[in-house]
Amino acid sequence: MQDNTTLNNAINLLTTAGIRLSHQRMAILQYLLNHRTHPTVADIYDHLHPNHPTLSRTTVYNTLKILVESGAVLQLDIDPECTHYDADLSPHAHFMCRHCGKLYDVPFPSHHIEAPEGFTTDRITISYHGLCPTCASSEKTNN
Ligand SMILES: [Zn+2]
Ligand SMILES: [Zn+2]
Repeated sequence: MQDNTTLNNAINLLTTAGIRLSHQRMAILQYLLNHRTHPTVADIYDHLHPNHPTLSRTTVYNTLKILVESGAVLQLDIDPECTHYDADLSPHAHFMCRHCGKLYDVPFPSHHIEAPEGFTTDRITISYHGLCPTCASSEKTNN
């Protein structure tokens, strides 16, 4: 389902930052908005390349860099193996499953974890590491 408000917000952020929205950049942004699976550069490239034969991994990487710098997309550092990207800008934490490697959204009330007085917070990053319910139950049956 296409969320037009979110797309328009992202486009506003980018045009305000003076960023030209080429066809390929739009495709990458749309993919992130429509897939809340926290994809990596490789995920996005593999998905878009069949329909965008001139797209390169470097373009995906550079576009993501621009999207992150303009504030339209978040870069997640939860996974030491590779960087994941998230177009969901609402405050939330992430849970990384050590078995399947998936990233799950975890809601959190941000007003409970504000920095002490005098500090200005740019962003709050909370990472959970462990097993997701699917992997936890299959680990049980395997033992
Ligand atoms: Zn899992
Ligand atoms: Zn997320």
